[in-house]
Amino acid sequence: MNIVVLVKQVPAISDIKIDAKDNNLVRVGAPSMLNPVDIHAIEAALTVKEAVGGTITLITMGTALAGEGMRDGIAMGANAGILVSDERMAGSDTLATGKILAKAIEKIGNVDLVFTGKHSTDGDTGQIPPAVAQRLGMSLITYAESVAVEGNVLKATRKNNDGLETVEAQLPAVCSVTETANTPRSANIRGKMMAKKAVFEVWRLEDLGLSPEEAGTAGSATEVTELFAPEPHAAGIMISGDDEAQAIHKLIAILASEKAI
Ligand SMILES: Cc1cc2nc3c(=O)[nH]c(=O)nc-3n(C[C@H](O)[C@H](O)[C@H](O)COP(=O)(O)OP(=O)(O)OC[C@H]3O[C@@H](n4cnc5c(N)ncnc54)[C@H](O)[C@@H]3O)c2cc1C
Repeated sequence: MNIVVLVKQVPAISDIKIDAKDNNLVRVGAPSMLNPVDIHAIEAALTVKEAVGGTITLITMGTALAGEGMRDGIAMGANAGILVSDERMAGSDTLATGKILAKAIEKIGNVDLVFTGKHSTDGDTGQIPPAVAQRLGMSLITYAESVAVEGNVLKATRKNNDGLETVEAQLPAVCSVTETANTPRSANIRGKMMAKKAVFEVWRLEDLGLSPEEAGTAGSATEVTELFAPEPHAAGIMISGDDEAQAIHKLIAILASEKAI
């Protein structure tokens, strides 16, 4: 099984700064970390590899230093990492990022399964898994709570309003996982040594057969025109009682005193 895990380096939450010129996150020089849910995507890939065999390649697209985040995944047991990095990719929105990552997966060739996190803590759109699946013509399962491969089928559970549903997809497939999908393993000493020594290939636009017009702001369909903090909302109040009827009476009394009814 040829497995890819997409992992993203994100700014450490407390240190996010915005560039006043273009309203984008300042990523260069900012302390960063591996997107937390991506560790669960790596764990899902390791579980599948242990069950059916195969190799795991991590791919990250980001600045020249973004590859460092992949060392955590190598320490856990991933086989290799590829850094997709090119200054002409700066400013890429999800459209351009999805295209670039899909090209990188295509270049690896014969990929059966692509794991991702369900969202990133910075962009937080959750658009990359469907964007990549659509570009590669792969099946897609999002928000997986558990995963298993049986033959040519990926089986997963997903939470919905009524409980857990079981879904299946034909391979090749893209699968995004949640942070409750599994408990990521700790790296052992051997893994940590491998991670320290790991050298990552760097792929630029030319390596992916992409032109500068297909990446960065030129290849993006969106533009950030304004950024603002959300308006603070008044805190809600919890109305309780010995039973539902008492709580409802309290609610009616409050609404009446506010002249809402
Ligand atoms: C106008 C605009 C300009 C932007 N400029 C930049 C920029 O200059 N630099 C920049 O880094 N971002 C930039 N972004 C944000 C960038 O588009 C998104 O971070 C990126 O497309 C991924 O989207 P997301 O973070 O919402 O990922 P989500 O879809 O929320 O992430 C889901 C999963 O996809 C995978 N994934 C997401 N991004 C990557 C990645 N880069 N590499 C590998 N795996 C990934 C991870 O597994 C992640 O858990 C910009 C966005 C906009 C709208």
